[in-house]
Amino acid sequence: MIFAEMYEPRLDEILELLKKNVNHGSRVFLQLPEGLKKKAQIIVEGIEKKGYEVVVDIEPCFGACDVPVARAKVEGCDVVLHLGHTPILELDSQIKEMHGIKVVYYPVHAIVDLTPLLERAAGLLERGSKVSVATTIQFHHVLESITEELKKQGFTPLIGKSARTGLEGVVLGCDYAAMKKMDGEVMSHLFIAGGEFHVKGAIREVNKSIVHINPERNEVKLIGKEEREKIMRREMLLVEKFKEAEKIGILTSTKLGQRFGDPFKVKRAVEKLGKKCFVLSGDLISREKLEGLDVDFYIILACPRLEEDTTIFSAPAIAWGTLVKHLKITGID
Ligand code: SF4
Repeated sequence: MIFAEMYEPRLDEILELLKKNVNHGSRVFLQLPEGLKKKAQIIVEGIEKKGYEVVVDIEPCFGACDVPVARAKVEGCDVVLHLGHTPILELDSQIKEMHGIKVVYYPVHAIVDLTPLLERAAGLLERGSKVSVATTIQFHHVLESITEELKKQGFTPLIGKSARTGLEGVVLGCDYAAMKKMDGEVMSHLFIAGGEFHVKGAIREVNKSIVHINPERNEVKLIGKEEREKIMRREMLLVEKFKEAEKIGILTSTKLGQRFGDPFKVKRAVEKLGKKCFVLSGDLISREKLEGLDVDFYIILACPRLEEDTTIFSAPAIAWGTLVKHLKITGID
């Protein structure tokens, strides 16, 4: 099954959602993830026919952490229609209270039959064991049928809750609470996600083995100790580089849901280690924007997964959460 067929937003559902949440004649700021931008025109035409005005946001969209409230307001929009994700709870209430603009979320669920992949995955799980089941929002709707099938096969499936979305069994690239809560209880994790991004994050967060169902590639893989050790070695190397560094850039993002800590608390704590610190702020963080800065190490308070993107940083970079996992730094709550 190819990607384009797997994620198909339904115009009738989008229109129904707008009808319930948005006044007729409102101006809508439409935000879509990169993979869905090719559907933008068809969605716009459908919405406009119902009497709304639509502006399409062409900036990259990273998730529900990245809701373009400011741009929507400049364009005179009454509402942001965000396709592809569900709300991040603390962020959604903050947007309503502080920015006075409504965000309507339409998660795009994958059209997929996971039965053959689940059969292969079950063969990699220990017979009759307790298994945690987790996924990304795109496959959340199949969670129930998967747990039912696992029960029929004699497993005990367990599902934890996401910290940022409050949804059962859902993970984000920065929120593996659903899996972590179950890690002590289960033999392994069954994880359904397209691509490698989410599973790479999961490896770092749990200790048990992961059976990864990747519906986009029609693949099932068992991931264990070796992959985890490789990641741990990389993290330890970064911690050693931090110890040697003198000029630290503390990098924050103005994206509302990508703010993982108070930069000045971090600055004060790191300065106690004898380092010079500069607080740096950007929206989309890129190599060009960092060029020319005299910094020999970055601490990331923006999206923590940026630390894996070697194309962005010319100096070593680590997420604050990763650093404090390995190094005791005092003076921070
Ligand atoms: S991992 Fe990064 S991009 Fe994904 S939801 Fe978290 S902050 Fe946003």
